[in-house]
Amino acid sequence: MSLPTYHTIKELSQALSKKEVSSVEITRQYLERIDHLDDQIKAYLYVDGDAALREAKDADAIIQKGEATSLTGVPLGIKDVICMEGVPNTCGSKILKDYVPPYSATVIEKLRQEHVVFLGKLNMDEFAMGSSTENSRFQVTRNPWDLERIPGGSSGGSAAAVAAALCAGALGTDTGGSIRQPASLCGIVGLKPTYGRVSRFGLVAFASSLDQIGPMTRSVWDAALLLNVISGHDPRDSTSMPKEVPDYTEGLKDGLKGLKIGIPEEYFIEGVDPEVEKHIKEAIDAIKDAGAEIVHLSLPHTEYATATYYIIATAEASSNLARYDGVRYGYRDGSTRSLREMYEKTRSEGFGTEVKRRIMLGTYVLSAGYYEAYYRKAQQVRTLIRNDFNEAFKRCDVIVTPTSPTPAFKIGEKTEDPLQMYLSDIFTISANLSGVPGVSVPCGWTQENLPIGLQFLGNTFGEQTLLRAAYGYEEIFPLSDRYPEIVKG
Ligand code: GLN
Repeated sequence: MSLPTYHTIKELSQALSKKEVSSVEITRQYLERIDHLDDQIKAYLYVDGDAALREAKDADAIIQKGEATSLTGVPLGIKDVICMEGVPNTCGSKILKDYVPPYSATVIEKLRQEHVVFLGKLNMDEFAMGSSTENSRFQVTRNPWDLERIPGGSSGGSAAAVAAALCAGALGTDTGGSIRQPASLCGIVGLKPTYGRVSRFGLVAFASSLDQIGPMTRSVWDAALLLNVISGHDPRDSTSMPKEVPDYTEGLKDGLKGLKIGIPEEYFIEGVDPEVEKHIKEAIDAIKDAGAEIVHLSLPHTEYATATYYIIATAEASSNLARYDGVRYGYRDGSTRSLREMYEKTRSEGFGTEVKRRIMLGTYVLSAGYYEAYYRKAQQVRTLIRNDFNEAFKRCDVIVTPTSPTPAFKIGEKTEDPLQMYLSDIFTISANLSGVPGVSVPCGWTQENLPIGLQFLGNTFGEQTLLRAAYGYEEIFPLSDRYPEIVKG
């Protein structure tokens, strides 16, 4: 199985517009790669090759007519939590095993207008709760860099598929790090936009005040291109902001020179893997050498972020997941006599352990007597965390941190200890609590050849500066043609 000829969406798109290759040819190549490799990687939950080839044919006709955009004919994969009309949408859960949505998410409609090719739906932790994709009720996705290891999560299928070139790019979702952490662990680029930048209509909700959809790609330019298309106000999502969408691919080349890069002391703590630490420090030195000014600063409430997140996210999840009652959606246990018993059995069988744990935690923190002590307190701390960022961005343009405290861990290593698993997100969660955008880009490999990610955090709606910094770093450390061994096969 040969490597793809075009590593990035940008290269592919240029080849399509010069008619060096057709979308049908490219789509066939990706489908063959999926056929050949996905038995081992298990990134996809659903592939519809016929539909993809039909879309590719339509895209080729659009290209012939000279009406193509940069995404026309480009094959993408979609996390299985973003609804596509007529295509099964499981959210990695048994409770939605046979659910086929009657409508498409706004992001899907926007991509359809560009005539992209949809290859299929990608595996994830059940309802996006997890950091390893081991909470999927269907299969464990493997990290293409080491099949004994997890790809990160919850968008692990999306990250593994992009890393193994089983699609040219993908959409993931990020509630506490689920785009950036798997991107980091799989050696690709993952961008969580500002809360409100991208419509969540048609995204199955986990924690509505935190969830965002974003691109997972092989380069910063590709992420900027996808962001251009999926961003913007949507009357069907009242949390999407009526704010103009600039061309995010412009201004990327302005480089790191002259940017003020904030380094928060709370993110350089004990417990970070020594190899991760070494590569992050080298990356910061390289950023400085490229002409950026380093500003040391503090985000003093960082230590409360994980606890705050696990109160707010579980509270919102317990409410959002109340709708899966066996009456309206998906799975129902039909063996019961009473309505109450039907609810109980349906939910006990339909949901997995982690989802049940979160529903119970969330119900508890919202219950009378505990609401003030937990939920309200968490909301107050959330404001303090948000204020930390407001203060920090008075002094710098972009903040740099590690994305994940460790490289990819072994399958099964943390499944028995939920708290250890929750700590995978200590560096990503604050961005969701405060709404700011963040992107992970590869910055090195461990001795065992596992990728390490560098996180850039930007100010609210500061994606242009954020992507400029990430692009500037990528110029120093370009990786889009570096592939795992298994992929070279
Ligand atoms: N790992 C975090 C959690 O389990 C974040 C998940 C996400 O961003 N969807 O909640």
